[in-house]
Amino acid sequence: MNIFSGLKDLLGQINKIDSSIYMKGKDFADIYARNIALEEEIAVRTKELEQANQTILTLNSVWDMMNSSQPLSSMLDKIVNILHNDMGYDFVAVLKLESDNNKTYYMDVKSYSQNKSVNKALEFIKESIDTYKIPYIENSIIEKAIKEKKIFSTPDMTGIIKMFFPTLKNEELNELLEMIHSKSAIILPLHNSNKYFGCVVLTSGRVATSDTEVNFLSLFANQIELAITVADLFEKVKKQAITDPLTGIYNRRYFEENIVKEAERSLRLKQPFSLISMDLDFLKKINDTYGHQYGDLAIKTIANVLKKEARSIDIPARIGGEEFNLLLPGVDANGACIAAERIRKSIESQVLDTIGSITASIGVATFLDHSDRIDELTELADQAMYKAKLNGRNQVQLAQKGNETNWQHLAIETFKDILEKKRIPIPKETAKIITEKLQELQLKDQTSGDILFSIVDILSQSYNQMYKQGTTKSKLLLAIILAEKIGLSKDEIDNLKLAILLYDIGNVMIPEKIFNKKEPLTEEEKKLIEQHPIIAAREILKPISNIQDVIPIIESHHENWDGEGYPNNKSGIEIPITSQIVLLVDSFYAMSQDRPYRSAYSIDEIIEIIEKESGKRWNSKLVEDFVKIIQNEARR
Ligand code: GH3
Ligand code: MG
Repeated sequence: MNIFSGLKDLLGQINKIDSSIYMKGKDFADIYARNIALEEEIAVRTKELEQANQTILTLNSVWDMMNSSQPLSSMLDKIVNILHNDMGYDFVAVLKLESDNNKTYYMDVKSYSQNKSVNKALEFIKESIDTYKIPYIENSIIEKAIKEKKIFSTPDMTGIIKMFFPTLKNEELNELLEMIHSKSAIILPLHNSNKYFGCVVLTSGRVATSDTEVNFLSLFANQIELAITVADLFEKVKKQAITDPLTGIYNRRYFEENIVKEAERSLRLKQPFSLISMDLDFLKKINDTYGHQYGDLAIKTIANVLKKEARSIDIPARIGGEEFNLLLPGVDANGACIAAERIRKSIESQVLDTIGSITASIGVATFLDHSDRIDELTELADQAMYKAKLNGRNQVQLAQKGNETNWQHLAIETFKDILEKKRIPIPKETAKIITEKLQELQLKDQTSGDILFSIVDILSQSYNQMYKQGTTKSKLLLAIILAEKIGLSKDEIDNLKLAILLYDIGNVMIPEKIFNKKEPLTEEEKKLIEQHPIIAAREILKPISNIQDVIPIIESHHENWDGEGYPNNKSGIEIPITSQIVLLVDSFYAMSQDRPYRSAYSIDEIIEIIEKESGKRWNSKLVEDFVKIIQNEARR
């Protein structure tokens, strides 16, 4: 082989290697290109997966929200938050379709992502977002989206801003457009149980909206609609449970829950709160004269005045038929009296169909000032209200500061002692009821006037079938008013309160048939009945050491001013003034109730009898004050 053929051979081999290298290079380039394409595809798929994942997460959090029974407003805020922060929309707002008296429709902004351009627009048109009404224009993109239940999108940002704020001037509109980076807006219609609810408005930097985005948004809208329905229902049920159906203000249950919270807050912060307790005057007369529906109108009028006069943090409530309470957080006695007087005047100034005007009697008590216990505060406000009634109605009375605990505790101890030591014979069933009531008082570790009064009512009913439930409380209030009117001291009044609860306890020792006898009593029976003050004072109560000051009041509660009473024929100032009060109050209630041998006297008849016997049975000075008080009662 010569050198040339050798060289040629070599060149041939080199060429072969070259072309093989070229082929390999081409393969590599292909592989490389394919790799890049694959990587791109993986990136796209990953992004899609991420998006799908985000979609699932988003829908999941809406689902969670639905199950957490949140109020509608906070739920809408969360939805806005998800779309704005997690899904990256520039601006998000939830708009609700509302109407003025079912005539003019407008859109109310329920929630929105904070946005400079929106704030600026509101500044231009001098409106606040809370009160701003977005026009609901026929044939607008919003109206179409809602009516057709379809998602609409538009790149016309100018048109959208104009639709929201039609009164903007051109230069203001241009200024806003410059601030906005969004290139398109999407309207997502919302329906609530097949009714129009409103829509979500979203803006984004993308010009066009992809099918995937529309699919996602329609899934999202479905979830929001469900969530709105649930929140709406939840709110309705919650509202029904705490409002009074006739007046729309809070009910007793809500009031009681909140006064407990307020008392805790008040004790913690050492800040007072006040309770206004009011009762419509002469409702019975309104019902009797004009009919029940006018009585209801009077009740609704009071509720409306309360709604109007109350601050947003106050709690107005209908406690019973014609009884209302208003809780005033952070307000002291002085402020509460001013508020109460304003309410009283406002009630008086209402002109009602057919009835004309109405009035209310109002009591005011302040927590930490009059009492630091809720039951006592309520009781004191109630007493003040009752005082307002007796003093002539249509007025405000402030509660008397009172440490009621002592006399009430003494009363509880006394009844416990009487029952445990079996100092009186009472039917087993009655003893059981009273024992339970006393236990209730002790368990609560607090006193409650009403339970105490009901114990006395029950005891009185055990020998006097005609004793009316509630009489003991009325007696006590009337006695207090008279005692205060003549200026007795707090200690004297406390003793008087105990005496009112206990003065007739001797009657349980007297045969029941004498009490319920229709025929006139024999002399012997009369003598027996006249024993009851002595029986109470010297037999039943004497061994109970801490009520010794009360016993003389009870022993003398049937002595007459002229010395003709019983059991000791005391006369004039020999008779404790508190006994004189008990006698007047007792006689008044005895005369105003039916007896087996006669029916009840009218108030006028009672006043006539009392005045006729004034100076004989009763202290004439006391009678004067007493008659004034019950004459107010007679106006009923
Ligand atoms: P006072 O000024 O002493 O409060 O007299 P009053 O007639 O308002 O009070 P009283 O307690 O003697 O009678 C209350 C009446 O209110 C008796 C009851 O039938 C009536 N009432 C209670 N709830 C309602 C209600 O929801 N609607 C109506 N129309 N009447 C009611
Ligand atoms: Mg009333």
